[in-house]
Amino acid sequence: MAHELDSVREFLLPRVHWEAAMKVSDILAAKGGKAGGDVIGIEPTASLEAAAKLLSKHRIGAVVIRGAGGRLAGILSERDIVRAMADEGAEALTRPVAHVMTRDVVTCTEHDTCAEIMERMTARRFRHLPVLRDNMLIGLISIGDVVKQRVDEIERDAEAMRDYIRTA
Ligand code: AMP
Repeated sequence: MAHELDSVREFLLPRVHWEAAMKVSDILAAKGGKAGGDVIGIEPTASLEAAAKLLSKHRIGAVVIRGAGGRLAGILSERDIVRAMADEGAEALTRPVAHVMTRDVVTCTEHDTCAEIMERMTARRFRHLPVLRDNMLIGLISIGDVVKQRVDEIERDAEAMRDYIRTA
């Protein structure tokens, strides 16, 4: 009996502690694409209308703004566009991205855990986190990516548990 419990514990423990194991690098790997290359960005001088079209075309919620040397200079999400339009009306669409983007961007690294970035997004109330390596942008994680990773993980665990029960 004790032996059986040990083997159940051995099976379950790594799964219970998924947060400690899953890293931003796992999400980036699952998303594929070349490092940084697939992060959609826009010029700070582009209009909000151009930004809205870009978000719509790529079915995404935020774009990054790269500064000198490709460094991250800001982030613009659909919420910024909505807020600008609520404040200024349709005229806001002619404003440059630099006018409304968030300059103080919170970021993560590929070594951060999924639990850490979920906590960061929840506490700060935003849904996007650029990933930096040596101050250079290598990816962008959305809350949707984190949720997908978690759901995939749960499905894999459920399947492994079904196998375990079938063969025990
Ligand atoms: P979101 O929930 O990501 O659509 O963004 C909500 C607000 O937070 C917008 O004003 C964004 O510009 C801002 N924002 C989004 N992501 C970040 C981030 N990583 N760091 C700082 N601000 C952000």
